Amino acid sequence: MVTRDEDTPDYEALAAGLDQWRQVPTEVLRDVVMRRGLCLWGLWPAEEPDWDGCASSDRCLAARLCTGCPVIDQCLELDLRIAGQCTTGVWGALAEDDRRALHPVWQHHRQQHERTAQEGGPTP
Ligand code: SF4
Repeated sequence: MVTRDEDTPDYEALAAGLDQWRQVPTEVLRDVVMRRGLCLWGLWPAEEPDWDGCASSDRCLAARLCTGCPVIDQCLELDLRIAGQCTTGVWGALAEDDRRALHPVWQHHRQQHERTAQEGGPTP
């Protein structure tokens, strides 16, 4: 699982981590997130997250809101595919500004995989 914190995310590392999901069909990702996503079932952690210091940070709020969710990466991959630059709200433990910044890096990774596959080489 890709980890998030309150500092500026490493978009390159996030995109590389999400490469493992590139061959999973969107409908499968959607089904997994719908079945297991904490926020979609109201299955919040037993203890209220510590919101101190989060008042002015969407990044902090997103990270804490999704704490403990078992499908963070799948949720992020799904949002990047479906919403892309039009994303809003919280998905995959990232604030929307971070997901918009991640999107072109993620797209670049996918294009590289497609080019490599078309050339007949192994995709990392
Ligand atoms: S990662 Fe966050 S937004 Fe996505 S399903 Fe889990 S709790 Fe909800």
